[in-house]
Amino acid sequence: MIVTRFAPSPTGRLHVGNVRTALLNWLLARQQGSAGKFLLRLDDTDVARSTEEYAQSIRDDLDWLGMTPDAEEKQSARMARYEEVLNQLAAAGHVYRAYETPEELDLRRKVLLGRGLPPVYDRAALTLTDADHARFEAEGVKPHWRFKLSPDLPHSWTDLIRGDSHIDPASLSDPVIRRADGSWLYMLPSVIDDVDMGVTDVVRGEDHVTNTGIQLQMFAAMGADFPRFGHAALLTGADGALSKRLGSIGVSEFRDRGIEPIAVKALLARLGTSQSVEPVTSDAPLIESFDIGKLGRATARFDEAELERLNAAILHHMDYADVAGRTTLSEAEWNAVRGNIASVAEAEKWKAILHGPIAKPAIPEEDQPYIAEAAAVLATLDFGPESWSRLTNALKEKTGRKGKALFQPLRLALLGQETGPDMATILPLIGREEALKRLGA
Ligand code: GLU
Repeated sequence: MIVTRFAPSPTGRLHVGNVRTALLNWLLARQQGSAGKFLLRLDDTDVARSTEEYAQSIRDDLDWLGMTPDAEEKQSARMARYEEVLNQLAAAGHVYRAYETPEELDLRRKVLLGRGLPPVYDRAALTLTDADHARFEAEGVKPHWRFKLSPDLPHSWTDLIRGDSHIDPASLSDPVIRRADGSWLYMLPSVIDDVDMGVTDVVRGEDHVTNTGIQLQMFAAMGADFPRFGHAALLTGADGALSKRLGSIGVSEFRDRGIEPIAVKALLARLGTSQSVEPVTSDAPLIESFDIGKLGRATARFDEAELERLNAAILHHMDYADVAGRTTLSEAEWNAVRGNIASVAEAEKWKAILHGPIAKPAIPEEDQPYIAEAAAVLATLDFGPESWSRLTNALKEKTGRKGKALFQPLRLALLGQETGPDMATILPLIGREEALKRLGA
């Protein structure tokens, strides 16, 4: 059994980096078929900033992407469990209470930095006696909680992506896990959830590498086995720089721009890997070929222009069944125009052109007799699937024109466009009557 989870905070909309993290976890689970589970865990311990609206937008985005989770968990519903584990860890001496104010801590950090020392918390709170705690309590000063890092607890792991990895517990401050107001920070609840939910693989961004070292210690303190961890290199913009724009581009923008969910997946599944990006039209090839070990350690470039090109390439061989319900085109019309669109919506433009009326194109003077000739030929032609080749063959013989001179004026007259779908396919769709009209007959 493989259990993965995607754990966003519902404090905003998903951006492309989150989508990639979700995708990697989804692929890993789906590759196992029924032996894989993909969870959505809403990290909503920050009650002030978490909203149900954002939670819903996350669900909607995952649905749109075709990555509906198998189950959903909410941290806000698990507070009692976190409290319970905290008490157990306190009894075992893995966590402790501290009372320093942010100002005090800041001052101590500055002093250490001033002496050229790393700004690590000095653990002064560990020397507090029961009487000290009683005094704080009597004064109504509430403690915050820290987790005690230890060189004796595990601090190295074999990362699915980065290979041998470790942290040095002595170089880090004991993390605050719960604030004085009782609210939880991310670190410990995430571990408790991963234990309770049987998560086997934690795949997330490289910005969590240090957290993983700390969380390993928490798993061990809870007496639990740890999951496998994989940390994907972060995304950069097309220019290779960490870009602000990436933080704002997400599903609603993809949708507005006519990007297909499969295009987003096809690109993000291969970005930063040694595998090439392919214009697939279904999930299966992505799931089958997914190999987390192929992700590299270098940052991966997300290029919006590449996504658009890939989207067009995918549309070019997308089956009618994949767009039925989203287009008013018939299957024949779809097959005829899909090679010339950047979005499903754009197919409607071609449909309008096929059915007319179209604005009368400006045919160059020297081509006008040729177009009149074409009208005459078409009028006598046995109209059908072969009309275009019959028409052009006849015109070639009559006029001696060939290549561009033969085809281009006809295309312009018949479509009002200089480029577009294959004329052989669309002439039958335009129909004889309308074609004759466009040729000025
Ligand atoms: N809520 C955390 C985040 O979005 C989850 C990290 C994790 O996957 O453990 O960064």
